[in-house]
Amino acid sequence: MTKEMNKRHIETPKEKQNRHKAMESAAVLEKIKHEFKEPPKTMDYFYNLYEKVYCRYEPLHADKIKVGTMCLQVPTEIVHALDAVSIRLCNGFYTDDEIGSDLLPQKSCPLVKATVGQFVSGNFSDKPDLIISPTTCDQKTKSGAIIEDHGYKLFDMEFPRTKESEESREYWRRSVRKFTAELSNDINKKLTRKKLKESITKIGYAQHLYHKLNVLRKNENSPILGVDMFLVTNAFFFDKIDSWIEAMKVLVEEMEQRVKDEYNAAHKISPRIVYTGSPPIFPNLKIPLTIEESDAIIVADETCSSNRMFNDMVSVDEWFVNDMVDSIADRYLKGCTCPIFTKNNDRIRRIIDLVKDYKADGVVYQAFAGCQVYEMEQRSVLEAMEKEGIPILYVESDYSPNQGGQLTTRVEAFIESLKNRRKKRI
Ligand code: SF4
Ligand code: SF4
Repeated sequence: MTKEMNKRHIETPKEKQNRHKAMESAAVLEKIKHEFKEPPKTMDYFYNLYEKVYCRYEPLHADKIKVGTMCLQVPTEIVHALDAVSIRLCNGFYTDDEIGSDLLPQKSCPLVKATVGQFVSGNFSDKPDLIISPTTCDQKTKSGAIIEDHGYKLFDMEFPRTKESEESREYWRRSVRKFTAELSNDINKKLTRKKLKESITKIGYAQHLYHKLNVLRKNENSPILGVDMFLVTNAFFFDKIDSWIEAMKVLVEEMEQRVKDEYNAAHKISPRIVYTGSPPIFPNLKIPLTIEESDAIIVADETCSSNRMFNDMVSVDEWFVNDMVDSIADRYLKGCTCPIFTKNNDRIRRIIDLVKDYKADGVVYQAFAGCQVYEMEQRSVLEAMEKEGIPILYVESDYSPNQGGQLTTRVEAFIESLKNRRKKRI
């Protein structure tokens, strides 16, 4: 045996973290691919994409300036118009959650801990060149400083905590204008009218495709599972936008055919669920998976990792740069139903509308343990659903893989009760 062969490779901490993350990813993808009825063929594009990025760490944007965003509130239209790519860094990995736990209070939101954890370990397939951190919830706001301390270039983007007043609208518009100027300056790219118009149009088209697909989910035979939909929408966080659009076009066609063929991704008796609350982010699809493994189907959601990203479109009156920037700002503030605001009646209205439009049997509300705003807002949402006669289940969850038993029992019992109601109706 040669000396070389005797040398055993000692795994570095980063390699170990990457291996654990690859295992987390593979486990979830395997479940989605093999534990349900036949997945749509086009989903192979998305499954391969996740394997590429999260199992093999292959970069997608090596030749581009990468702008990391800490929340959905950073306007993607502006980032794209400046020839950069926007990569949303909200993170769903338990491995990173554990790393972040060393720097944040034990009771913090797992999404924030995981996001910080990834910055600490630096285990990115596409490492961001700079980070934009909107001052939305307290935990996101405070974690920006920790991330900066670890050597990342970070810009705060001030965000108002009310949205009805003219003052908050103007405050946010100013913030978006400042962000635009700072980003343009920092990456040395000029924002032109042509590029911004193109970018608004392209993202609008991506939203249009999402809406088209969503309309098909209103059908009594819903053509696609909620877990697949979360993979599709989560991929928008990091995929090349043109590739995402192409895959969506094919997926929409395939789902139109499924609807024509009266194909149901679940079963006739499967309760239809609207999902709301703290955002499911790959690979933390624990609650959506539990719901669909219990033979229900998620037909719509009100979360910032899915529906909320695509819900409202930019509406432009004048196609001049400053007017377009203001219109973009308005779309992001008006469309936001995150519970960070003082009052949030829009969110309740939206959930009720979704239940009615998608003929849902009930709502599942997930709050991450440690997310005070989602925990606090559950009372008003539960009361509103009760008034409307809409069954709702509230669950608190984290990223731990050992939380299963009790949670599963509660979800199963809820689904069973909805099934009984459904049986009486059909
Ligand atoms: S939950 Fe709210 S603050 Fe957190 S990423 Fe989503 S929109 Fe932003
Ligand atoms: S789940 Fe709560 S704490 Fe976590 S990012 Fe969203 S609003 Fe902030």
